[in-house]
Amino acid sequence: MSEFSPSPAARSDDEWRELLSPEQYRVLRQAGTERPFGPTYREFQEQGAGTYVCAGCGVSLFSSREKFDSHCGWPSFYDPANAQNVIAREDRSHGAVRTEVLCANCGGHLGHVFAGEGFNTPTDQRYCINGVALKFVPAA
Ligand code: FE
Repeated sequence: MSEFSPSPAARSDDEWRELLSPEQYRVLRQAGTERPFGPTYREFQEQGAGTYVCAGCGVSLFSSREKFDSHCGWPSFYDPANAQNVIAREDRSHGAVRTEVLCANCGGHLGHVFAGEGFNTPTDQRYCINGVALKFVPAA
């Protein structure tokens, strides 16, 4: 059994490859995007009350309270549950200016956040998050 770095931010690429599934590695560590309307999205739609933690390091990121159905094919939230655990930064890849969302604890790529799309939510922000980057912890 290998010894992993105690601090997620210090983990090597090899450690991440061992810890994550290939799809999780592609999304979290290589800023990939899962295909929309995939199996994790269907699971997301069926999940009830609970917390969404980072699939890379386990910190709490989002909650079912801020979840909404944007019909975009990826899990959507209008706010993080724990703002200090989520970082946003400008992303100029793929010929567009977007705001990337990352886990503040392990640096994993989660998805993007879009604003002002006209959703009837308290923030009109859409945190468009890859389902494989999240682990659902049902409320006790
Ligand atoms: Fe993380």
